[in-house]
Amino acid sequence: MKFAVTSKGDNVSNSLMQKIKTYLQDFSLEYDEDKPDICISVGGDGTLLYAFHRYRNRLDRTAFVGVHTGHLGFYADWIPEEIEKLVIAIAKTPYQVIEYPLLEVIVRYKDGGKESRYLALNECTVKRAEGTLVVDLEIKGDIFETFRGDGLCISTPSGSTAYNKALNGAILHPSIEAIQITEMASINNRVFRTVGSPLILPSHHTCMIKPVNADDFSITIDHLNIFHSDVKSIQCRVAHEKVRFARFRPFPFWQRVRESFVADE
Ligand code: NAP
Repeated sequence: MKFAVTSKGDNVSNSLMQKIKTYLQDFSLEYDEDKPDICISVGGDGTLLYAFHRYRNRLDRTAFVGVHTGHLGFYADWIPEEIEKLVIAIAKTPYQVIEYPLLEVIVRYKDGGKESRYLALNECTVKRAEGTLVVDLEIKGDIFETFRGDGLCISTPSGSTAYNKALNGAILHPSIEAIQITEMASINNRVFRTVGSPLILPSHHTCMIKPVNADDFSITIDHLNIFHSDVKSIQCRVAHEKVRFARFRPFPFWQRVRESFVADE
C-alpha cells in the first residue's frame, strides 16, 4: 500500500508527520506523494481540506485519515498519542471506508467560455467583492427568490459543522446525500424578501444562482477564494464523486458533534 502524509506546517505537526512516515516505512509501506492509496493529514480539519484538494483528481483511489494537533476535528479525529496504534492499524488491518457526499459547483460565463467545475468538501460561498449581492436563486429550474444581502453559503453534510453552523444552518448527518443553502445577512423589509430559513436540497435537485445586475463574484470553495467575472450562472448540486475516509474504529458523528460543541469529555 502506498501512503502520503500532509502537515499543517507547524513544528508539532511536522515532527508527527516525520514519525508517521518513518514508522510506516518500517512496516515496508511505500511513500508516494503523487499516487497514495491513503493520505494521513496531520493538523486539523483545515489541513484535511488542503489534502482533499491536493488529491481531488483521485478521490476514488485515495482515502483520508486525520490526526489533530489542536482541538478535536470532524475530519481529524486521531490524537498524537495514538499514532503508534494508527500506524499499526494502517499497516496491518484492512480498513473500512466511509464515504461522505461532496458539493459540485459549476460556474458558467456569459461569453460562452469554458465553464469552471469545482468540488467542495465543506462548502461554496458566493459574495460580491464590493457591495450587496443581488442574485436570483433557482431551484430545480424554477425561480425561488431574489436574494439581496452579504452572500449565500452552500454546504455539504460534513461541512455543515463549519461555516454553515455559524450561519445557523442545521447539522446534517453525512449519510444524508444533500446540500444546504444558508443566507448571510439577507435584506428583508417590505420591498425585499427572502425565505430566511436554511434550505436542504436532495441529491436530485440542482440550485442555480444567477446575477441580477453585477456579474462579478467572489466564490470560495472550502479555503480557496476565486474571483469570477462575466458570470452567467453558478450551479450547485450533490456531486457524483464522494470523499473516502479510512475508518479503523467507530467514532459516531453525533459523538463528534457533542464533544466538539456541547461537552468537553
Ligand atoms: P480557518 O479560518 O483557518 O479555519 C476555520 C475553522 O473551521 C478551523 O477552526 C477549522 O478547524 C474549522 N473547520 C474546518 N472544517 C470544519 C468542519 N467540517 N467542521 C467543523 N469545523 C471545521 O480556515 P481554513 O482552515 O482554511 O478552513 C476553511 C474553512 O473555514 C471553510 O471551509 C469554512 O467552513 C470555514 N470558515 C468558517 C467561518 C465561520 O465559521 N464564520 C468563516 C469562514 C470560513 P481546524 O482548526 O481543525 O482546522
